[in-house]
Amino acid sequence: MTFSVARNPQPASDADREAVLAAPGFGKHFTDHMVRIDWTVDGGWDEGRVLPYGPISLEPASAVLHYGQEIFEGLKAYRQVDGSVAAFRPEANAERMQRSARRMAMAELPTELFVESLRALVGIDEQWVPQPVDQSLYLRPFMIATQDGLGVNAPSSSFAYLLIASPAGDYFSGGVRPVTVWLSTEYTRAAPGGTGEVKCGGNYAASFAATAEAAAHGCDQVVWLDAFEHRWVEEMGSNNLGFVFGSGPGARIVTPALTGTLLPGITRTSLLEVATELGYTAEEGKISVEEWRDGCASGAITEVFGCGTAAVVTPIGAVRSADGEFTIGDGPAGAGGPVTAALRERLVGIQTGRVEDTHGWMTRLN
Ligand SMILES: *Cc1c(COP(=O)(O)O)cnc(C)c1O
Repeated sequence: MTFSVARNPQPASDADREAVLAAPGFGKHFTDHMVRIDWTVDGGWDEGRVLPYGPISLEPASAVLHYGQEIFEGLKAYRQVDGSVAAFRPEANAERMQRSARRMAMAELPTELFVESLRALVGIDEQWVPQPVDQSLYLRPFMIATQDGLGVNAPSSSFAYLLIASPAGDYFSGGVRPVTVWLSTEYTRAAPGGTGEVKCGGNYAASFAATAEAAAHGCDQVVWLDAFEHRWVEEMGSNNLGFVFGSGPGARIVTPALTGTLLPGITRTSLLEVATELGYTAEEGKISVEEWRDGCASGAITEVFGCGTAAVVTPIGAVRSADGEFTIGDGPAGAGGPVTAALRERLVGIQTGRVEDTHGWMTRLN
């Protein structure tokens, strides 16, 4: 599998790149190149191309611009102890992108081609992979419908798969800080039969009004509830959730079960395994808003966290809604709980090569 390479004639200078890497933030700066692979109904997947990072040209009538036929992924490549670069479970992202493609009537990119596209980009932009242990290279594969025309009687007959990369700093530079969340009862993220379990841009487009509402109430994130009863807790923003019952080695971690309306996070499934290895009980279940509130009041629930690729594990300190507010553990001014911290440390340890990868989760890219 080979990719043609058109080198960027004006890559960032060493000084410019180092300035970015000194304070990368998240999703603000991009590497010198990107990958593109086009698909047509007649020809299938075309040759992969490494191109200079830059604007893409689309017909104004392209399907993605009107009907939102778009899916994406997000994963990270980490500098390992020996200097090599490895991605965390890229095959799982490839498979999830294939499931997303099926739901959105798009072309499925084979797993091997997906992983090779990561290798092609990291190979040419390796200097953009940060060295510090708390930083990484965020990889953003995505696919858009490029067919030109406004008819909606059939899915697009052409797609473009693209991959861009952005150095990512420590989400919690200055220390882990618990977030305050807003329980959204007016808006829902997903309903059965819809696209809640698909990583598509449309889910995000529909979420921003709720995110703005959360911010207007002084909250960092939205917590999504089920569409029927507005009672069962599903996700937080673009994170899955974990509830810690009890404390110490006897702690039990419950994550909302995948009912079809939740996004099946790779961090979530990985943490279920990591939690078991650390000696906790980990299971999928159903948590209602009342159980959350009463559990925090009684002390049965000791910690709650969000989990996803970008921030890995985020403690939640307080929950706000139209009905009032309650706190979790030592609240938003605290440092998050010990189970949350232990899970984070173990998972980040595996990702950066500091803890032995007994699962075969890391895939070398260079
Ligand atoms: C991407 C995403 C997640 C987290 O998935 P990871 O694979 O762990 O990064 C959770 N919820 C939503 C809505 C998402 O889009």
